Amino acid sequence: FDQRVANFCAGPASMPTAVLQKAQAELLNWHSSGMSVMEMSHRSSEFVGIASKAEQDLRKLMNIPDNYKVLFLQGGASLQFSAIPLNLLKGEADYLDTGIWSKKAISEAKRYEQAGLGKINVVASAKDSNYTTVPSRDSWQLNDNADYFHYCPNETINGLAMFDVPAVNVPIVADMSSCILSSPIDVSKFGLIYAGAQKNIGPAGLTLVIVRDDLIGHANLVCPSILDYKNQADNDSMVNTPATFSWYLAGLVFEWLLEQGGVEAIYQQNLLKAQKLYEFIDQSDFYQNPVNKDNRSIMNVPFTLADSQLDKTFLAKADEAGFLNLKGHRSVGGMRASIYNAIDLATIEKLIKFMQQFEQTSV
Ligand code: PMP
Repeated sequence: FDQRVANFCAGPASMPTAVLQKAQAELLNWHSSGMSVMEMSHRSSEFVGIASKAEQDLRKLMNIPDNYKVLFLQGGASLQFSAIPLNLLKGEADYLDTGIWSKKAISEAKRYEQAGLGKINVVASAKDSNYTTVPSRDSWQLNDNADYFHYCPNETINGLAMFDVPAVNVPIVADMSSCILSSPIDVSKFGLIYAGAQKNIGPAGLTLVIVRDDLIGHANLVCPSILDYKNQADNDSMVNTPATFSWYLAGLVFEWLLEQGGVEAIYQQNLLKAQKLYEFIDQSDFYQNPVNKDNRSIMNVPFTLADSQLDKTFLAKADEAGFLNLKGHRSVGGMRASIYNAIDLATIEKLIKFMQQFEQTSV
């Protein structure tokens, strides 16, 4: 597939080529239905079949216990920043600040504090380390009576990750937008997991929520009914028209992932990919990654050049060579390679080679 570039975008991100080919083959006439999935009624038996197969495959991939609902929603992970307090906040909630996405979740939740719905505590912040190290667990000001504890295990922009599920005594809510399906997790340790789809799941427009049964059915009266998890669960995520085509493509990604050997197999690939890239960055004086080694994301690898004046040339040369979207987020600058499940080891090796050559011609 010569015409497909290596796309390191943080999201919407690279999709497995095999998935796009399958979607292409089925685009005009899905399974002899005479129509495209995007033209089907969400209430048709065809689409209901597609939707439930996607859910079953995801349950298999993540080993989701029966006492959890899986919701296929819209509005992105960002709408969940509001939906979570609207559904779960009764008195107080604890939030850990490890980066830009945690901060966004906190500031959205604080609106409900201002509106008198409850109190939002920030238990600790990685700010002091400029978001390069997660504050140690002993320093967190936890509240054992909190309704939930919210954190972001993989901060997409800073490339800051937490690999152990925090030991806290209240339901854990995790923003897994940029790490879901990248490594095996024990779902039963969480109260709620949510993720925007546009990284490891499929196209944008779809948001996954995996929520334990006892946490639904308690939404605040001011919660819009469309954001009420109970309402969505009771209606199989079809309170209104869902993002049908994104849901279908997510299903194809889940099938692809099962064919790869599931999450454990892709995790081994992901570890190797990240290890190679960080090793290369660390042995070089030309490239740098500032993140504490224990907290380095295996999905998003930010790096800087020793001479930032070379940034533009680096990006231009990378584009020319078919390595796209390596520019860091506008809020932090530098570079970032997002290396989600669809990026294979061979692509990482090619990127390293390119970086090596760029270094040699620039020093
Ligand atoms: N959380 C994280 C960790 C993210 O990476 C992103 C998007 N990059 C979001 C939340 C926001 O997601 P969305 O655009 O789907 O609202």
